[in-house]
Amino acid sequence: MPITQAALEALGALPRTDVRQHVPLSQYTRFGIGGPACIVCDCAEEAAFVEALEIARASGVEFAVLGQGSNVIVSDRGFPGIILRYTAGGMGMDQDSLWVEAGAVLQRLVNFSMEQGLEGLHSMTGIPGWVGAAIYGNAGAYGHSISEFVRRVRYFDGRLVSEMDEGGCQFAYRESIFKRRKEWVILSAVLQLPGGDRERLRARAAEILEMRNAKYPPTMKCAGSIFKNLLMRELPAQARAQVPDSVAREGKAPAAWFLEQVGAKGMRRGGIQVAAYHANLIYNDGQGSSTDLVAVISELKERVAARFGLRLEEEVQYLGFERAEGPFPYEPAT
Ligand SMILES: Cc1cc2nc3c(=O)[nH]c(=O)nc-3n(C[C@H](O)[C@H](O)[C@H](O)COP(=O)(O)OP(=O)(O)OC[C@H]3O[C@@H](n4cnc5c(N)ncnc54)[C@H](O)[C@@H]3O)c2cc1C
Repeated sequence: MPITQAALEALGALPRTDVRQHVPLSQYTRFGIGGPACIVCDCAEEAAFVEALEIARASGVEFAVLGQGSNVIVSDRGFPGIILRYTAGGMGMDQDSLWVEAGAVLQRLVNFSMEQGLEGLHSMTGIPGWVGAAIYGNAGAYGHSISEFVRRVRYFDGRLVSEMDEGGCQFAYRESIFKRRKEWVILSAVLQLPGGDRERLRARAAEILEMRNAKYPPTMKCAGSIFKNLLMRELPAQARAQVPDSVAREGKAPAAWFLEQVGAKGMRRGGIQVAAYHANLIYNDGQGSSTDLVAVISELKERVAARFGLRLEEEVQYLGFERAEGPFPYEPAT
């Protein structure tokens, strides 16, 4: 269904809102891949963003929320509707709590927490993206996940703006309730962190950043890890028995280990390449398409399923694939 002129005008009339039509989503994703969206609508204040979500819903047109685009694969065909982005990025301290709006760049929050002498988020130095998506996907690295520190989340459920505590968020490894309730949109959050020594936190953050930049060069068109790691306790016994003790970390078997066993490193299709040094890192060399990217992902899932009898699950999210014929992306039978 095409968006009506009335809905377009209503979006355009919202305060602190920028509306663009026929926008290539490759400009909004770290992969640099993706066809056009009919509309991209950026709102810099909560009331306008909530109204934009209401206008989008009432219009009957497909819509989706995007952050900085560092964990999405957008279809080459694009998205036949409205992409909404919440760009409000305020943050501050309220007594012993840290509050932050969902459009804040995660690294700004990390830096702010370190300036306040707060410990925990420093280990997320260098994770790209905005805070809303970090909560949505329970982002984390080097021993900490954001869920450890989230105390309250303010969100719009499609009808009302409400708040929930961390229990309601149902956090798990790279999971939250927001991944299952796609119509719920995160607006802001309150976090609590223990105190730490500023200099020690800064030194550790610098070390982490150096390691991350070596693994993910800042200009690399990728999404970080494509697949989630696997919880050892959930692995089929026969697959678990094959994982060497030396590779399991924090109760997880790296997806990269299984991928490496099936020859993923260096695999290439068109402009899409699996890094030669990291089997769970797929990047676009500049000429890549979502068709090739999804084909590589499907091939890797199929190989791991055939060899280990287990199903790798993507950490990356898909956008604009719903119109494809047949099940997509391809799921191998396990
Ligand atoms: C080089 C590189 C390294 C990475 N390393 C890590 C890492 O170490 N650890 C890790 O956890 N991740 C990592 N990632 C993945 C990525 O940084 C995180 O998933 C990040 O949280 C995505 O943020 P974003 O704003 O780019 O989200 P997007 O990619 O724009 O969106 C991701 C998902 O979040 C949803 N979303 C966005 N905003 C909201 C909102 N306000 N409310 C509800 N849903 C929303 C979107 O609909 C989408 O489904 C890495 C990515 C890259 C490119």
